Amino acid sequence: MPKIAVFPGSFDPITIGHVDLVNRALPLFDKIMVAVGVNTSKHYLFPLEQRLEWLRTVFADEPRVEVDYFERLTADYCNRIGARYLLRGLRNASDFDYEKTISQLNHIIGDGIETIFLISQPGYSHISSTIVREIIKGGGDASPFLPENLVIEPPVEGLND
Ligand code: ADP
Repeated sequence: MPKIAVFPGSFDPITIGHVDLVNRALPLFDKIMVAVGVNTSKHYLFPLEQRLEWLRTVFADEPRVEVDYFERLTADYCNRIGARYLLRGLRNASDFDYEKTISQLNHIIGDGIETIFLISQPGYSHISSTIVREIIKGGGDASPFLPENLVIEPPVEGLND
């Protein structure tokens, strides 16, 4: 059975921190499904289609990475596609506190799904989609935090959020 990991997230937008995590996890799995979790009560800066397109562009040359999205429970999505692993990154203690409970819950409701955590490299631990969004909204240059082939313009409707 192929070892499939789901890397769930908002990717609003994808950063070099996410890309580093996927590259470091590739030797551990046969396939990584980078999956945008759609939470209808959450407000995103970039539309789902745009976030998916960026993910597809970034991982276009890696046949073992696929891009998808899902609604509702992450554990249900994993079971649906036959993934027994979740991939998440840890940058600091607050990431850990937040992730710990979720991974325990996913283990129970996902019937034994294991979450594999990779500690971010020191050069990436300050990078988050949140700071990238703030830079973009403020009209700054977020390119140091974005994958090379990605140029992101602020969405007009997102500027006043
Ligand atoms: P979510 O809204 O689910 O937190 P994100 O897109 O912000 O989604 O993050 C998805 C995953 O990527 C999380 O596990 C997060 O910890 C991880 N991640 C984000 N940025 C980095 C980074 N710079 N280094 C390592 N992991 C990261």
